[in-house]
Amino acid sequence: MNLQDSVGILAGIGPKKIAALATLGISTIQDLLLNFPFRYEDFASKSVYDLVDGEKAVLVGQVVTEPVVNYFGHKRNKLTFKIKQEDAVISVSFFNQPYLKDKVAANYETMIFGKWDDTRKALTGLKILGAKFQAGDFQGVYHTNKHVKQSELEKWVRQALDLGYSELFQEILPIDLLKRYRLMSYSQAVSALHLPNSEAEYHQAGRRMKYQELLLFQLQLQSIRYQDRQVDSGLTINYSNEAVAQLIAILPFSLTVAQNRVLEEILADLKSPFHMNRLLQGDVGSGKTVIAAIAMYASHTAGFQSALMVPTEILAIQHFESLKALFGNKIQIARLTSGMKAKEKQQILAKIADGQIQMVIGTHAIIQEAVSFSNLGLVITDEQHRFGVNQRKIFREKGQNPDVLMMTATPIPRTLAITVYGEMDVSIIDELPAGRKPIQTRWVKHQALPKVLSWLEVELNHGHQAYFISPLIEESEQLDLKNATELFEELSQFYTGKARVALLHGKMKNDEKEAIMQAFKAHQIDILVSTTVIEVGVNVPNATVMVIMDADRFGLAQLHQLRGRIGRGEAKSYAVLVANPKTKQGKERLTIMTEVSNGFVLAQKDLEMRGAGEVFGLKQSGLPEFLVADIVNDNNILETARQDAEKIWQIKNWQARTEFQGLFKSLNESKQSIFD
Ligand code: ADP
Ligand code: MG
Repeated sequence: MNLQDSVGILAGIGPKKIAALATLGISTIQDLLLNFPFRYEDFASKSVYDLVDGEKAVLVGQVVTEPVVNYFGHKRNKLTFKIKQEDAVISVSFFNQPYLKDKVAANYETMIFGKWDDTRKALTGLKILGAKFQAGDFQGVYHTNKHVKQSELEKWVRQALDLGYSELFQEILPIDLLKRYRLMSYSQAVSALHLPNSEAEYHQAGRRMKYQELLLFQLQLQSIRYQDRQVDSGLTINYSNEAVAQLIAILPFSLTVAQNRVLEEILADLKSPFHMNRLLQGDVGSGKTVIAAIAMYASHTAGFQSALMVPTEILAIQHFESLKALFGNKIQIARLTSGMKAKEKQQILAKIADGQIQMVIGTHAIIQEAVSFSNLGLVITDEQHRFGVNQRKIFREKGQNPDVLMMTATPIPRTLAITVYGEMDVSIIDELPAGRKPIQTRWVKHQALPKVLSWLEVELNHGHQAYFISPLIEESEQLDLKNATELFEELSQFYTGKARVALLHGKMKNDEKEAIMQAFKAHQIDILVSTTVIEVGVNVPNATVMVIMDADRFGLAQLHQLRGRIGRGEAKSYAVLVANPKTKQGKERLTIMTEVSNGFVLAQKDLEMRGAGEVFGLKQSGLPEFLVADIVNDNNILETARQDAEKIWQIKNWQARTEFQGLFKSLNESKQSIFD
């Protein structure tokens, strides 16, 4: 007997069922037994007097009428009979399962699982368990598909457990940990998750499996961290202190305390022989770009190339322009985007390969295309939350294992940070440059738009500029464009002779986008009408007004990012949210926006309102799918597993110690799965 035995050894599983199970990813007994129920039904029989309306429960009673099937037209029918429990007579009906009639007979006792309707004092039957039903009181419910039925999975799992297969799951957790957290054994947990005897038992079994799963995951992250700290893991970027100091001295502002602190952390990483793997968090407008620029400059002074990767073409254009403005002709800087002409791209690629180009700014093109660097020392991603987690792995494999800095404005609650970015060091800019005035945020109804437009005229007359964001139509670039175009036409008409209005959207060619952005920056445009293409990163400090149309369609994080486009200079800025929300959540979001300006608080609210999967795009993030753990709800276990994993890695040569053999082996087996 072996856990790798094919499910075919179970009675009732032939080639057809083997193929069917394969559609659920199950081919061995181990797969079958690690395919845990995703919820449980309480099959303890209940007294009818204890049931509440809508509750699903098991009732045992004596059948007191002959079962009758009534047909209504084609295919629809209803089986009805009555059962007596204590002194109550309950009517039971099953829809479209006429064959169940043979399973009940007057005067016999039966056991029925169904849904209770308290007003009609009736049970809508879901399942006849029969008098002989004797599973544990809790029945697991499995994910099924059209090839495999719930009842089949129940049957086969039970068979495998009866044959003793669960005993073959050898303990992998050290005895110390089992004792400390009073965890049940691996084999016991596997069995109890399928056939628990009580609610408490499946909770305990779940707790053990979650801990195991999260501990292994954290050990993997720690192993990456550990590798990063090996002396020969990275590059030693011996930058010139004086050159860096000179650059900082010519900046038009002095760095904030927080900027100085994170810069020191980053520079120390560059100089060390270790591999840098650092996340830089800082709210919108906190000044991350200049930190990136200084770090890139530092690696340049040590003779290394650097790359800055951004999620949008517009941001690529902007960063390219600001780096050029900062470094002039001293450094060869290139832009690399997917929209580029083939010939131009060829030339740039050649110059990157032979080292003539020292800094590259680009979108995904930087990692997607066959870009080879002659001497890549540092890779930075801006707006990291827009990139999938798996991209981090690609960087590791690029160049000579360059140092990596990832920047994000999305504040991540700790429990998520240690999961999503668990293998990284974190630097935080927790301060805005001096002199920033808080942005005033107003929510107005559509009817008030004419007033907003007149008020805006005054603001424009003071020499400021404004953004108008057109409504977001999910997954329809066509409609987004239509909306933006209409808004543009309306505003052009309203402001004829008073203000210069321009339109920007994602469908434009790169050089068109570039021309518009330049003109807006140079204040040749007063009002920029745009789709959400400007959501992240765009920096025009003279723009002080952000009007967001149908603002209730945007999530909190998105609204915060959009609002982050203003309040970047010293003049007072205003965000105007125009919306007539129909839903309660829509209203709530808008109210929160008018009250909260701190990105961290907003992120927390967003998380509460939408859940982590939505907020952080975890589904697309490339994180491993956990069998039992849930990284949001199981944050206590996650935190514990994190600490334990760190401690284990601190034990010298732990991989060689007997008590850790099980863990080490499992770690090696699962190593491939992370970030694939
Ligand atoms: P973000 O962190 O959102 O990427 P940016 O790097 O775009 O922010 O910076 C926002 C604005 O603040 C830019 O105009 C930038 O020049 C300016 N800035 C950055 N650091 C400072 C500072 N220490 N003092 C004053 N202004 C600063
Ligand atoms: Mg930025």
